[in-house]
Parts: sequence; structure tokens; C-alpha cells
Amino acid sequence: MTHRDPLVILLDADNTLIDSDAIKADLVTLIASRYGPALRERFAAIYEDVRAELNVVSYPVVFQRLQREAHAAEDVFATLTDYMMRYPYRRRVFAGVRPALRALAAYGRLVVVTDGDPWFQGKKITDAGIAGLVHGNVLIFTHKEDHITDICLRYPADHYAFFDDKPHLLAAFKRQLGDRVTTVWVRQGAYAAGGWGAHHPAPDHALDSVAAARDLVPSFGARPGGQALVAVTGR
Ligand SMILES: [Mg+2]
Repeated sequence: MTHRDPLVILLDADNTLIDSDAIKADLVTLIASRYGPALRERFAAIYEDVRAELNVVSYPVVFQRLQREAHAAEDVFATLTDYMMRYPYRRRVFAGVRPALRALAAYGRLVVVTDGDPWFQGKKITDAGIAGLVHGNVLIFTHKEDHITDICLRYPADHYAFFDDKPHLLAAFKRQLGDRVTTVWVRQGAYAAGGWGAHHPAPDHALDSVAAARDLVPSFGARPGGQALVAVTGR
């Protein structure tokens, strides 16, 4: 029989637990210093093209396209892939993540749910030490919003909390799960800088940093059959 948790806390990785904008900036610095400004400009354009086409960041696809445009003698794909595979991801975990996750773990099962290329994402989450912090509960989908039912089947719960930096994902989870989910918008990174926009419904909570998640506590009985996370005020 499948175990059912009172509360499962779903955590995004990129720009929620890990400073992925900083990792991208380091990659751009490498491209500029090794291949020059022209290829750096092409990287920026291809990155946005791929993100628009796939609705997700895929470094392998970006690197393949960049290789096609590079000088034949330049081993762009291998060099950039190697860089990302050796990158010290642990240094890019946001400040306060570890105490925040320890605090949240007292209330519910922690599950990282991320999207993108599975190789890079798996490597990054493991090397950053995040997989260990959530006891290996990591799900990687190309588009997580297409797999909300799968997530709920894999981790059955009376109530879910969902932390993400992207407004459209938070709204999608709320539309599908309704009162079964508490959405927490973590306003970090490029997506959050663009504001909430016209997405509906609004998030239940908004935090300026993931570190503030340690000040969320569950409110038992707030919703039938489950518990919600609520912000603590006055601290
Ligand atoms: Mg994210």
C-alpha cells in the first residue's frame, strides 16, 4: 500500500534553491574569454531561441547549435559540456537553503521537482548537495506542469506546498490542485524580476528569498483533510 503524507513540499531547483543565473553568468564569462565576443553574443541569442522554442532551458541543445556556428577547429560543445559537468554547483546553493530545508522537513516530506535536461539537472542537483538534503526525492521532467498528476501519484499527500520562482508554474499548479496546494512564489532570479504579471490565480505566499521559508509553518486544519503553510508575521 502506498504511503500517504499529510504534507508534501515540492521545491523547484533553478533560481529557487540554486542560483542558476550566476551559473549562466560564469558560463558566459568562459565563452567570452575562450571564444571571443562574437560567440558570446550568439550564445545569448541561441539561449533565448531555445528557451522560447522548448519553453525550458536545455544547455545540450544550446551547445549543439553553438558548435554548428563556431569555427570547425573550436571544440565548443565538448568544452562547454565539460565545464558544466565539472562546475562547483555546491557554491551556488542560495544562502539559507540548508536551514530552510531543515525547518520545512519538520513539517512534511521534501521533494525537488525540476525541469530541463535530465543529465545536467541530475548532475547539478546531486553535486549541489540538494539531492542528499531531500533524501533522494528528486523528480525531473521536461515540463513539470504537464506532470502534476504523476507527481501526486508518486508522492500521495493530503496537502502540497509548491515553491517556485516562475509565476506561470505556480498558477498552473494552483489551477489544477486548488485548495490541495499552497503556492509559494520565491522572488529570485530573472523570471521573478519580471513580476507576477497577469497569471491567475495569485500565489498564496511570496518570499523575497528562499531562506525566509524557515519562517513558514503549517496551519493544521486550514483546509479539509490537510494542512497549509502560512507565513509567520511579526518576526
Ligand atoms: Mg526555477
